[in-house]
Amino acid sequence: MVLTEQQVMVTGGAGFIGSHLCERLIERGEDVLCVDNFFTGSRSNVRPLLINPRFEMLRHDVTIPLYVEVDRIFNLACPASPVHYQFDPVQTTKTSVHGAINMLGLAKRTKARILQASTSEVYGDPVVHPQVESYWGNVNPIGLRACYDEGKRCAETLFFDYHRQHGVEIKVARIFNTYGPRMHPQDGRVVSNFIMQALRGEDITIYGDGQQTRSFCYVDDLVEALIRLMDTPAGITGPMNLGNPGEFSMLELAEQVIRLTGSRSQIIHMPLPADDPKQRRPDISYAKSTIDWQPTVPLEEGLKRTIAYFRGLLESGQA
Ligand code: NAD
Ligand code: UDP
Ligand code: UDP
Repeated sequence: MVLTEQQVMVTGGAGFIGSHLCERLIERGEDVLCVDNFFTGSRSNVRPLLINPRFEMLRHDVTIPLYVEVDRIFNLACPASPVHYQFDPVQTTKTSVHGAINMLGLAKRTKARILQASTSEVYGDPVVHPQVESYWGNVNPIGLRACYDEGKRCAETLFFDYHRQHGVEIKVARIFNTYGPRMHPQDGRVVSNFIMQALRGEDITIYGDGQQTRSFCYVDDLVEALIRLMDTPAGITGPMNLGNPGEFSMLELAEQVIRLTGSRSQIIHMPLPADDPKQRRPDISYAKSTIDWQPTVPLEEGLKRTIAYFRGLLESGQA
């Protein structure tokens, strides 16, 4: 355990990835200020931390300025699943853009180092495969996903301009699909949908023909990478792809989930949402060489742990 005595702020810290990150930072001996408006996150995600004297929870919306003294900021606040980010798209763009401006303003004033949770969605429906950081992407600026994709792209722009113009120390992580315990059971993402459907014996809903691909990273691996990226020397800004290069079609994922749950669910096909990317896989060479990182949890193992979590929710009546 390293006692660094840093005051670390995690925005979106009561969400899926944020709560795991807060937990790991507390284990490392950091003081953690978790800032969240509970739009998609919840107190229950951080309940075990609430009694820890090193952990502080602040209900706050990052689109509103915030004056606190911190050394490091992980900026994760933003709904991540298409169902949630399309619920109030204007608010989603505001969260990414105004949220980034406020958190960068805070970083500038306090001379804090700041990490942005960006996304593989900045590549849109990619024509370069696997995706490398130098690829500029293929995003529809006026589509249903644009509030998220373009919001995150603009946030990256702000991060690099605060860095160049004001000398703010930045780190930009491009996170690929991440899954694990504490995903919201109703957030509509493919891993949570398939597992909940399989456990309930409901039909498994594949959108389109199921040939589209994604690469799924277990949350513990991702959190390790975020912490390593934050710890890199000042000159390293990213953007850095963080994800698991194992690539699976949605059909393959459905079959794995059915096998691992022992479910009798049937696969059905539903319409493919607009602008749904056809393929996605990170090239993680830059992460490997810079932070000496690659994922360690194979999909089957991660799915087993996630299935156990959702089974627990169902058995205790929480889902
Ligand atoms: P999540 O929805 O579980 O977490 C987001 C958190 O941000 C929630 O706790 C929510 O309440 C909070 N939040 C939303 N708007 C806010 C606002 N205006 N002010 C304060 N808090 C706000 O999602 P997640 O999967 O944990 O994602 C965390 C971050 O990682 C997001 O920025 C997301 O874009 C990014 N990311 C996630 C994935 C993934 O596959 N999970 C992939 C790429 C990028
Ligand atoms: N800001 C904040 N906390 C701080 C410092 C700034 O929330 O500790 C906000 C501030 O309200 C401003 C934004 O961050 O709107 C950008 O700050 P910056 O200093 O870049 O811009 P300025 O204050 O000059 O508009
Ligand atoms: N998907 C699916 N069935 C579902 C939910 C999603 O087939 O019940 C598909 C979706 O169309 C997409 C992929 O799974 O092609 C990943 O979707 P998710 O929303 O998890 O993430 P994203 O599209 O943001 O990568």
